[in-house]
Amino acid sequence: MLILTCPVCGVTAEETEFHAGGEAHLTRFGPGSSDDDFETYLFMRENPKGVHFERWRHVYGCGKWFHAARCTTTLEVFGTYSAQVTQPPQEILDTISKKRPGWTWRNFA
Ligand SMILES: [Zn+2]
Repeated sequence: MLILTCPVCGVTAEETEFHAGGEAHLTRFGPGSSDDDFETYLFMRENPKGVHFERWRHVYGCGKWFHAARCTTTLEVFGTYSAQVTQPPQEILDTISKKRPGWTWRNFA
């Protein structure tokens, strides 16, 4: 069972209290962008075996969106943080690097 802590209201609960919203930190492209950029934005997603950054919504709580960093194989949660940032906080990146030596941000290979 995936256990998440909402960074907005501070409640820690099982994943059934939340709703997954897909990959976090997408670069958004809209009208006026190239067809390739728009297609990539719409359809291309990371699907790593390991560290992943996701959007979650606290649907049975405060209703707010937030981001979570977790491992897709072990369900270990490295941290949750505001959805108002363009990249994960440095302390979460440091935590991941300590637990997954050699891992770097945006290196999902
Ligand atoms: Zn909440």
